[in-house]
Amino acid sequence: MQRALVTGGAGFLGSHLCERLLASGHDVLCVDNFFTGSKANVRHLLDNPNFELMRHDVTFPLYVEVDRIFNLACPASPIHYQHDPVQTTKTSVHGAINMLGLAKRLRARILQASTSEVYGDPEVHPQVESYWGRVNPIGVRSCYDEGKRCAETLFFDYRRQLNLEIKVMRIFNTYGPRMHPNDGRVVSNFIVQALKGEPITIFGDGSQTRSFCYVDDLIDGMVRLMESPPDFVGPVNIGNPGEFSMLELAELVQETVGVKANIQFQPLPQDDPRHRRPDISLAQAKLGWAPKVSLKDGLKETVAYFRKTL
Ligand code: NAD
Ligand code: UDP
Ligand code: UDP
Repeated sequence: MQRALVTGGAGFLGSHLCERLLASGHDVLCVDNFFTGSKANVRHLLDNPNFELMRHDVTFPLYVEVDRIFNLACPASPIHYQHDPVQTTKTSVHGAINMLGLAKRLRARILQASTSEVYGDPEVHPQVESYWGRVNPIGVRSCYDEGKRCAETLFFDYRRQLNLEIKVMRIFNTYGPRMHPNDGRVVSNFIVQALKGEPITIFGDGSQTRSFCYVDDLIDGMVRLMESPPDFVGPVNIGNPGEFSMLELAELVQETVGVKANIQFQPLPQDDPRHRRPDISLAQAKLGWAPKVSLKDGLKETVAYFRKTL
């Protein structure tokens, strides 16, 4: 039985990953400091004898014995990662160093949950992995963007220097059940607002675009990447290439919830990327992966979840 460590395992993506790993027969150690994640996200797993939950901050060393490390610990929404930006960078950088040190001692394979934010506000569209990005190094998003970029550097240097088995995955906007209802991400915001009968808040004129991947597809890509041949290390984009403006998303959410909401336009946050869409040819060729769930179907599942929990 393979032992997997999932850092950030009590968060949105982490909890789905823990579920998937347990279902495929892994022994799972979930490590989280509960900054944005919660016990509630993994409560249904606590009775499983192959699951263990540990409260721990990855900026401190961690001595455990595992075969696979999925490094997801890091707040992911702008509200949360900008709440304590210094801590965000520490989590990405010190967290990566500690998990790489752990992987080095154990000779364990390690996967980094990187992000499309490494491309910044891109002038190449759709984004290919060979594009170096356009990131403001001193803006309000930099703690996250540059933290994640530095983590990628560390992963590749641990590989070059120590021949570690690494995998780097660039995750594009992902949504689904167990998103935090108040973390300010656009899908959860719009759904919660529509369900509560509040105005939908569109930042800027709503013409900026994002590509939204349903969580089940994303986790499938993550597991495939971890189990891919050792010579394939990435970075590889995982996301849904369907591209929507925030106005279109607001329309779709209202349709799915079955309401006609008021739209409230608010100022665009600093450095908000204009366009984002993954080129997924690499994932298709190397992992045989492509998303299966349309935004319409994924929104149905997500709305059903928020209806139940609100
Ligand atoms: P999330 O906030 O729900 O999960 C992050 C988890 O990490 C939380 O459970 C949080 O408590 C934990 N955490 C934060 N700092 C920690 C620390 N110092 N020590 C231990 N645990 C810590 O966010 P998510 O959407 O599940 O994102 C998971 C990972 O995927 C993140 O690394 C994020 O950057 C990456 N990612 C997510 C998306 C997305 O759209 N969801 C997009 C790109 C990248
Ligand atoms: N580390 C850890 N768990 C381990 C091994 C190392 O948390 O099982 C941490 C350790 O505290 C160190 C970091 O990982 O700060 C980087 O380890 P590495 O061996 O690369 O560097 P060194 O210890 O030589 O500075
Ligand atoms: N956004 C919006 N209204 C909201 C929350 C976000 O219009 O209530 C916009 C935001 O400005 C951005 C897009 O939606 O252009 C995606 O934002 P999110 O924070 O979900 O992800 P990211 O910007 O990190 O891709």
